Amino acid sequence: MASLVDTLGEPSYRTKQFREAVYQQRAEAIEQISTLPQQLRRRLAEKGVSVGLPRIEKRFVSQDGTVRYLIAFADGQSVETVWMPEGDGGEAGDGSEAGELAERFAESSSLYTAGGESTTEKNEPIAAFRRSDTQRHRQPQGQNQGRSTICISSQVGCAVDCQFCLTALLGVKRNLTAGEIVGQVCAVLKDQKVSPPEDRINLVFMGMGEPFLNYENFVKAARLLVEEVGIAERRMTVSTAGIVPRIHDFGGEAIRPKLAISLNASNDALRTRLMPLNKKWNLEVLMAAARAYPLRTREWITFEYVLLGGVNDTPENAKEVAELLRGMRCKVNLIALNPGPGIEFTTPDAERVAGFQKILREAGIPAFVRRPRGRDIYAACGQLKRTVEVATKPAP
Ligand code: SAH
Repeated sequence: MASLVDTLGEPSYRTKQFREAVYQQRAEAIEQISTLPQQLRRRLAEKGVSVGLPRIEKRFVSQDGTVRYLIAFADGQSVETVWMPEGDGGEAGDGSEAGELAERFAESSSLYTAGGESTTEKNEPIAAFRRSDTQRHRQPQGQNQGRSTICISSQVGCAVDCQFCLTALLGVKRNLTAGEIVGQVCAVLKDQKVSPPEDRINLVFMGMGEPFLNYENFVKAARLLVEEVGIAERRMTVSTAGIVPRIHDFGGEAIRPKLAISLNASNDALRTRLMPLNKKWNLEVLMAAARAYPLRTREWITFEYVLLGGVNDTPENAKEVAELLRGMRCKVNLIALNPGPGIEFTTPDAERVAGFQKILREAGIPAFVRRPRGRDIYAACGQLKRTVEVATKPAP
């Protein structure tokens, strides 16, 4: 934008006006940018410059308030983006036990020092998680305030091929550009009529695709979301299936969301069966990268674990997980399988999930059960497959 403004011989403050129009007002046409003089708008249009948001093609609304958006880009490809008015039970501001803790940390001024510098703490278990087992903390805000989470996609489809995930069935079509990643957020913010930082929005890179296989664009998008859209870094979490070299790179980024790793199995044989990428980066190298990851003050790594009935949910599995994570500053988010057509696994019952959680907690590992959000509209974890045919009726 700066070089465009420069070529047009315009003063540099126009760049700021342009950026604000795109990222904050979320203008959908050059003519809408009222801060720019008429004549400049005409010249931009003549040069073929256009601004806009990806198109919301469909909207499915769940009984629990979750909205699944089908969002289409200029070339007709589409992804899914999910709006969770009360989060999904695991990240800052979502009203869950784990979320409340994250919230307190997110509000803490000592988290993430200014200028991208970070204070690295030893990767040790966090005492505060233990306290949270017995103490419930009050939500300071009214309904919907500071609790909403947007789950965004990084690729059209996914190449990782996890056996329990519906997105895998699509294969990967292409990477999203940084602009398309940010565009999803802007389109949803506009549709929901909210604006950060006044409205506190949490963001998870946990939609379709593997963010660390579209690394450059993901990092650029994260920077734009912080610097231009105004979403705080500490309110964002990126999840990776375990692309180990990028975990190392990510630790060195100046702007970096919190890190989550999809563990999903307690030993190599099982993980290779469920997540074929484990052949390339096995648990030993994955856990070594996680242990070496430079955590900032009051930061921890999240491990996600999808529980598959009778497959990876036994007490033995739980003990192996506890062993893998021993002594790490981390927490575990347990997700009971969200079912879908073509997925051969079953969802364990609540008792089984609670039993798994109990073993982890007794081993000193903070473990939380994630509430499924929007299962009825195929919006929950692992269900994003552009399923227009199975969904309930689109919202008006
Ligand atoms: N590709 C990245 C980002 C997606 S995050 C990653 O794998 O981390 C989506 C999360 O949902 C992952 O933790 C994944 O393991 C989990 N998941 C996939 N399919 C699921 C399903 N059917 N039920 C519940 N969780 C699922």
